[in-house]
Amino acid sequence: MMKHESPETMLPILQDQYGRIKRKLRISVTDRCNFKCVYCMPEHPEWMKKQDLLSFEALLVFCQYMVKQGIENIRITGGEPLMRKGVVHFIRDLQSLRAIGLKRISITTNGHYLAKYAEQLKQAGLDDLNISLDSLDADQFKQLTKKDLAPVLSGIQAAQRVGLPFKINCVLIKGQNEDQILPMVNWAKQQNIPLRFIEFMPLDGDQHWTDQAVVSEADILAQLQPHYDIHVLQQQHEPARQYRLDDQYTIGIISTITHSFCGDCDRIRLTAQGELYNCLFAQQGLNIKPYLQRAIKEKMFQQLDQQIKPYIWHKAKGYHAIQNQHVRKISMHMLGG
Ligand code: SAM
Ligand code: SF4
Repeated sequence: MMKHESPETMLPILQDQYGRIKRKLRISVTDRCNFKCVYCMPEHPEWMKKQDLLSFEALLVFCQYMVKQGIENIRITGGEPLMRKGVVHFIRDLQSLRAIGLKRISITTNGHYLAKYAEQLKQAGLDDLNISLDSLDADQFKQLTKKDLAPVLSGIQAAQRVGLPFKINCVLIKGQNEDQILPMVNWAKQQNIPLRFIEFMPLDGDQHWTDQAVVSEADILAQLQPHYDIHVLQQQHEPARQYRLDDQYTIGIISTITHSFCGDCDRIRLTAQGELYNCLFAQQGLNIKPYLQRAIKEKMFQQLDQQIKPYIWHKAKGYHAIQNQHVRKISMHMLGG
């Protein structure tokens, strides 16, 4: 008897039930981090065991499969991705996938080790970086991250020196760093560095998030309004809404909480031990490790395909559809943002 495949398994691309095609893959290569950001890391993290992490060899095979399914951008994240040995080499290996459709290779980093790695990353073919920076005040930075600001600023200078394009991401929390909105904008504008503010999302390790702690897009604009003439720009296929300041400089605001961007979402995420998440807020991941290992061993990707495509197909509509579901065990340091 002929076996009937479900429609989503027969799709040549990665698409969900709402018609959103997946073009961006974020891979967390480690959950470990040298920072302890209050909005991310739990007080007592239980690290994944090193032997449970997907090897870079397995990740490369997975990326090759995903690029064949239409993925164009790969972002490497963590934890802190520059803490995993071999990550520069992995970026070099990913270059081979450009021939089959990969367009961008990026990293999201806290910047602490960037001064050491910027040149190597450039040589390895990295296209760009997102660097997290939540305060320009050294004491406040330390309170937020438990680490020093100076190495991050050196990392930023190193990226500039070697010519690696980057954006700064700044998460704002009420009562902690909302006073940094104007200093961050002035600092970034002066150097023409792209800056994006991110609303605090309920993905912190110890689940202390409340909506009272969110500095909203409206709050950010209210703080900037007395100082700048502000115009909203047409939103591109990007989670950040862009605002033009004094017709000279553009900032972005990622406001998942107050204006979710889920309607256009083209991302999927993989944790360091091989769980695929079709959404940042998904309750359940899909453990692809056994299917990937089998695919590598038998050079047959059918089973992997039969798992991944239905999982992606069933992606929920967005944050507002799933925000009230019960507590999750996975937080941002595992998912990678
Ligand atoms: N360690 C790297 C870094 O900090 O850039 C990469 C991993 S980190 C999880 C990725 C991004 O997620 C960072 O820009 C970070 O600021 C952001 N992030 C972490 N927790 C968040 C939260 N609860 N809400 C909003 N953004 C968050
Ligand atoms: Fe580490 Fe990045 Fe999380 Fe901060 S946001 S604790 S740097 S993983």
